[in-house]
Parts: sequence; C-alpha cells; structure tokens
Amino acid sequence: MVSTSERPRLIMEDGRRYNGRAYDELRPIRMQVGVLNNANGSALVEYGRTKVLAAVYGPREPQLKHVSIPYRAVLRCRYHMAPFSTHDRKSPAPSRREVELSKVIRESLEPVVVSEMFPRTSIDIFIEVLNADGGTRTASVTAASLALADAGIPMKDLVAGVAVGKVDGVIVLDIDEVEDMYGEADMPVAAAPSLNLITLLQLNGVLTPDEFKKSLDLALSGIRRIHEGMKETLRRRYLEVKVEE
Ligand code: ADP
Repeated sequence: MVSTSERPRLIMEDGRRYNGRAYDELRPIRMQVGVLNNANGSALVEYGRTKVLAAVYGPREPQLKHVSIPYRAVLRCRYHMAPFSTHDRKSPAPSRREVELSKVIRESLEPVVVSEMFPRTSIDIFIEVLNADGGTRTASVTAASLALADAGIPMKDLVAGVAVGKVDGVIVLDIDEVEDMYGEADMPVAAAPSLNLITLLQLNGVLTPDEFKKSLDLALSGIRRIHEGMKETLRRRYLEVKVEE
C-alpha cells in the first residue's frame, strides 16, 4: 500500500490524471497465453504494474467426489495474492478477501463456459497475483478467461474485466492502486461483449445514477478494447502453432 498519509491530488490542472493518463485511457496491457508447461491452459496478464498469472487444469476427475455434478462440469477458482505482490509482505494464508474474490471471479466466468459438455468433471482455475497495483480482480478475470481458452475449454465468449473509478470528481478508466485508495468510488466490471452480458459489477463508494451510467459505459468501452486484445493474443498464439507445423 502507499504510505502517504495526505490525500494526493489525482487530477492535474491540464485535466490529466496524476499518472499522466487521459480519463478514458487504459494502462499498457500485455497478455500472453501458454506460459506454463504443466497446466492445461495458462495466461499471464499485465495491466500496467498489476501482473496476474492464471493456470487451468481440466476438465478432470474431481479431487473430491462429492463436488461432482451429473450433468455438467464444476468450475472451481482460487484467487491468491503472492506474499511478494504488495508493498508490505502479505500473509500467504488465504484471507477473507481472497475467498470472496475467488467466488466473484468464478461467477463472472460461469455464464460463458459450456460446462454441460463435461459432466462429472471439474475445471480448476488457479490465479496468482504476482504484482498488485489496483484492479487485480478484473485482470484476474481476463487472465482466467484466456487460460480457459488456452486449455481448449469451449466458451460462448471471452470475459474481460476492468475497474473504473471517480477521482477528484472525474470518472476515469482502469484505476490503479492510488486512484482506488484515494478516489471517491471504484467499480470493477467484467463483461462478455459478444454475448452482451455483464458478469461482474461491484461498487465501493458513492456515485449518482448519472455517474453510475457514465462509469458503466466507460468500463464497457475499455472491456471491448481488452476483448479485442484477447482475441488477437489467441489468434497470434494459434497462428504461431500453424507456422511451426
Ligand atoms: P482489486 O485488486 O481488485 O482492485 P481491492 O480494491 O481490494 O481489489 O484492492 C485494491 C488494491 O489494493 C490491490 O490491487 C492492491 O494493490 C492493494 N491491496 C489489496 N489487498 C492488499 C493487501 N492485503 N496488502 C497490500 N495491498 C493490498
């Protein structure tokens, strides 16, 4: 966490954000799939300094028989922040926040996974936050979605996530940790643009209904851009495979 006790100025005189970005500008986003050998699918996603690794195993026989469902696969998700991912060393034991985020991320992906194709199996997603600078849950949704695609799990769409916020009265896209911490509101959103579904929406802080609508529109426009990048990442990966044949 940032150690400043005074609230920093977040919007500068020229209208730019403290980090130099325009209100509707994403951080530099990098995505890579197939980064781990032993997982069925994997992805490394960076939103600026936020860096998240996702690994997918399955569909496989559930390790616990009682979690099996006769007509579909069970999706399981574990979100974890590495002890070295934050400024102060974070306890490696799962916190309440991590348990809740694991559930929220899983629920954001469930609507797109064609789980009926794999009855009595489990699809396990492991997410490791390697570096945290705001927006880790939304970067995790993007990474998990790419890792599922990399594992060859049939999906109706790719889900992408981004957080928007209100800082010094301005609605801004893809907030970092400082904007999250000192802003008036933060709102993580995930969506499946081709299906036209919002699969995650949370709001901390206070917005008027008009600001809420503006925030949602800004988030969805960012999500569409990230979604394009995800498709391009997968295309590049499979083009490479084809060229090597
Ligand atoms: P998100 O990462 O999805 O934005 P939060 O709003 O809970 O989730 O956290 C905002 C940011 O605060 C995180 O991205 C991270 O940079 C920081 N943070 C969260 N939890 C911790 C923690 N336990 N220790 C240190 N920093 C944390």
